[in-house]
Amino acid sequence: MIIFGTKGYLYQLAIVTLVCGRCGNPAAHTLRKRVTKFTLFFVPLFPVSTKYGTQCTFCGAESQLSGDQAEQLQAQAATAPAPGHGPQQANPFAQGNPFPQGGPGQGGPGQGGPGQGGPGQPGASGNPYQR
Ligand SMILES: [Zn+2]
Repeated sequence: MIIFGTKGYLYQLAIVTLVCGRCGNPAAHTLRKRVTKFTLFFVPLFPVSTKYGTQCTFCGAESQLSGDQAEQLQAQAATAPAPGHGPQQANPFAQGNPFPQGGPGQGGPGQGGPGQGGPGQPGASGNPYQR
């Protein structure tokens, strides 16, 4: 028996200030990406559809965007000093992070080279356990 289906993911990409098309206010809009993934045995395999949209935080109006528009907005938001923006927030359905943290490259060579502990420390001063 094969169990398959789809699963929706919602990513908040950025918060951008736009003039709302409905209420006309220059309000903050959340830029969101909705990804629907094909799942097999509850394991998401590949995205079937990706949709972008914005939602006005003032009146709540939602509007769809193309991927290009979303990228432009995200670039705008990245250059503007928007506080607390970050991708991949609020994904309560994340099962097992496929990206292991702390990959190669951390703590590479070069740390603790020569020069540390140079002259000037004559012996361990004040060590009560040293006889
Ligand atoms: Zn609005």
